[in-house]
Amino acid sequence: MESTLIKLGKKVKRFAKSVLLPAPKPVVSYVRRFERIKTPEKVCAMTFDDGPMDLPCAPDRFGGEALTDVLLDTLAEFGAKGVFDVVGDTSENYPDVCGPAGSPTWGGTAFDHYPEFGQDSKGGAQNCPRLIDRILNEGHQITNHGYRHIIFGKKPYVYGKRQFQGKLDDVTSDMEKLHGLLADRHGYQMEMTRPPHYVDQIDGVFTAYDACALLNYQYLAASFDGQGWLPAKTGDQQLAEVREMTEPVRRALAQDQAFFCGQIIFQKDGYNMALRTPVAFGLREQLELLTKAGYRIMTVSELIELSPFADTGSEDPDFDQFRELQRTHAVVYSDNTLRPDTPMTKGELAMLLAPRSAAVEGRIEKLRAGDKSFLHRYSGALNWCAEQKLFSPGTAPEAPLERADLLKAADFFRGDIEGSLTRRAVLRSFRL
Ligand SMILES: [Zn+2]
Repeated sequence: MESTLIKLGKKVKRFAKSVLLPAPKPVVSYVRRFERIKTPEKVCAMTFDDGPMDLPCAPDRFGGEALTDVLLDTLAEFGAKGVFDVVGDTSENYPDVCGPAGSPTWGGTAFDHYPEFGQDSKGGAQNCPRLIDRILNEGHQITNHGYRHIIFGKKPYVYGKRQFQGKLDDVTSDMEKLHGLLADRHGYQMEMTRPPHYVDQIDGVFTAYDACALLNYQYLAASFDGQGWLPAKTGDQQLAEVREMTEPVRRALAQDQAFFCGQIIFQKDGYNMALRTPVAFGLREQLELLTKAGYRIMTVSELIELSPFADTGSEDPDFDQFRELQRTHAVVYSDNTLRPDTPMTKGELAMLLAPRSAAVEGRIEKLRAGDKSFLHRYSGALNWCAEQKLFSPGTAPEAPLERADLLKAADFFRGDIEGSLTRRAVLRSFRL
């Protein structure tokens, strides 16, 4: 018989496939996708999408208090810090028609509307400055979920007639609008984004990673579905939806108390597809389970500060040095693994050596000008290395590193690199 944990693992994988969508082949990148981090400590993060919401819970058992206030009250009771992936304002997303409750188009057919179709003025950072102030005053993190919550690229087989941005500049200007709002009105600098519905591909050339790189953002994903966003079909639906949120947490902890170490949990600061708010009730039970098991619930920024990698924790002898290096250099893969004991490639060395302006903006400029030879994500860095005569032009990005490459780049390194040319050996010897 399958253990609960395996079943849970499969469920998480299905979630990752259906909601988080498969990420492109990992490459060393300034922009990393944070699903979870590696730590033996009982720490985890909770992320709340699509708010803030200034409408009461459904059913309302809180005397008309807004959902976001209820979530903040609950977090405060447990000394927990959350991450709010906020939108700006969806009121520009008309004309549109509303689909049936319980379907994916419950909030709109062409666009999303939060907190509800026709009630856009009751949600989003633009319309709810009081809630944004409260989130920030109470020490929570805010991330950019898109001003109008429009998917970046086409996703016809999932979202039917859904309108999409389709251009890199449209994606970045929409996110800049929300970034500016938080900076100008609240003095807050957002550092991460969760793309609406996790659609990464913008057009045939650019992806969410390019948009993030231009905005100096990291990509916030999640590793565990906190549930509550799917409607229960039968019986006491309210009860069933709350149970859907709490039972997986209870089962996982019963199997393995360390299950949630470093995990990022996904929830909603809004209605579910059936216009109910199970999160208003389920969050308390989840927090009770987690704090009873010894967990501290912190922001993702705090998690990353503690341990920035998905695969390398504080037990690694070079952890402190690698943690320092990743603050300023492209040394981690886009899936947030460091993979210290794999061989380094020429393209990866180029990413380490080239300035960010050449590796990111320089490459995007070439692509904008239609130069398809800059499609590979290392091509801007390799081009810079060729200009410096560190590599010959046309060097294959995936080619294994040779000792001669390091001799040419000797100024960047401390002493000679002994033994095999693993990523660990090269990164350890790199001069910061
Ligand atoms: Zn969303």
